[in-house]
Amino acid sequence: MESKIEEKAKTKATLISKGLDKLFPNPKCELDYKSAYELLVAVILSAQCTDKRVNIVTKELFKEFNTPQKMLTLTQEQLEEKIHSCGFYHNKAKNILAMSKDLLERFAGKVPSSQEDLVSLAGVGRKTANVVIGEFFKGEAIAVDTHVLRVSNRLGLVKTDNPLKCELALNNLFEKKAWSKLHLQLVLFGRYVCKSFSPQCDRCPFYNICQSEDKKQLLNFAD
Ligand code: SF4
Repeated sequence: MESKIEEKAKTKATLISKGLDKLFPNPKCELDYKSAYELLVAVILSAQCTDKRVNIVTKELFKEFNTPQKMLTLTQEQLEEKIHSCGFYHNKAKNILAMSKDLLERFAGKVPSSQEDLVSLAGVGRKTANVVIGEFFKGEAIAVDTHVLRVSNRLGLVKTDNPLKCELALNNLFEKKAWSKLHLQLVLFGRYVCKSFSPQCDRCPFYNICQSEDKKQLLNFAD
């Protein structure tokens, strides 16, 4: 039997889910890709970088290097040069090459669909794996990135800085069939409404239930 606190948290989650459905009825991943491999590379590049910038870089990169085999014809330095503007290019290039080698050696060059196999690839963490599962394989998984972590805390859905704890708490609050959509909606909500430094509280549908310290007080023009 659920405790009163759990019951209250689920009621809040339902309210937020309905609000997000109104705000973002058909949320879409903003990364461009044509295959699971391209998506995997794009997600690795997107760490600490905007999707817009990643799309500019991958548009050129994938013209020639859109499979693990082709990617491995590049040296670390050559790849670094091509992805330089995404930031953290040294580690990102290293991870993309290691992941590509792993894919060829252990999965015949094919991106696996299970979380266990995905996270076994060099340079692929749980967040990246969950994005690929939800977006490409249409499975159910909540990828917790910086936006999801921030807005989940601000909305009072979770109280943790730990992405895994956040993911598990969200899994518990929302129906499994909604997980992947919820991930996209929370990312968009964090990107366009509940922004990191300047949350748009005046147009936030959750203003009345938000208890975040970052919430901006609205000006009352009636006074
Ligand atoms: Fe974010 Fe402001 Fe909405 Fe709270 S009221 S969830 S801080 S945008």
